[in-house]
Amino acid sequence: MIRRRNFLAAGLSALIATPVGAAIPDGEPRRLALVRSDNGERFAGPYRGAQGYDPVALGEFAHFMRDRHVERMIAVDPALLDLLSEVLAAARAPEATLLSGYRSPETNAKLAKTQFGVAERSHHIEGRAIDFWIPQRLVDAVQAARRLQRGGVGWYPGSNFIHLDTGPTRYWVLQGAGLRGLLGVRAKKHRNLALEQCLKDPARRARCGQRAAIRPAPRG
Ligand SMILES: [Zn+2]
Repeated sequence: MIRRRNFLAAGLSALIATPVGAAIPDGEPRRLALVRSDNGERFAGPYRGAQGYDPVALGEFAHFMRDRHVERMIAVDPALLDLLSEVLAAARAPEATLLSGYRSPETNAKLAKTQFGVAERSHHIEGRAIDFWIPQRLVDAVQAARRLQRGGVGWYPGSNFIHLDTGPTRYWVLQGAGLRGLLGVRAKKHRNLALEQCLKDPARRARCGQRAAIRPAPRG
């Protein structure tokens, strides 16, 4: 039991002491600007300065990343903020759109029924993963993230978003145009209603699946 506790403590300090890459010069304040896709809420400002991470900013970021399905939050791994800020700096993106941050086990269980959820579920539950979108240079962002070699990078070209996490370094690509819908990004209820109406019309039925799919955002 003691050994396990020591192991956990060592793991936690290793997590906090994750080294920072060179994309942003040392000593420069680190900032992030994000907007939530579901309610337009924003996080903007420095989260780290010469004295280290700003606990108030980290708390605000954790709240910003909360799971709105169950209104619950968890501490976010600060290394995730560093990773994201470096990727956004490399892609010259002043702001990113948050599609999915923290996921409660309940929310994740719903997503885990799909291929999408199975691939990456644990890191969102732990506050160590983010799915985001930027309007331009999304491919540059993917390449920058891969070059950093500091965690998981998932690229969803059909749905135009990137998954980043601070777990083991790995990379995957998952095709599919409707994956954003699985994150609850758009009004699912309305889309399902539109789909039901479409299916009732014999002349349109064959095209209903395409109509129901999320239209991908412009490529970057
Ligand atoms: Zn993800």
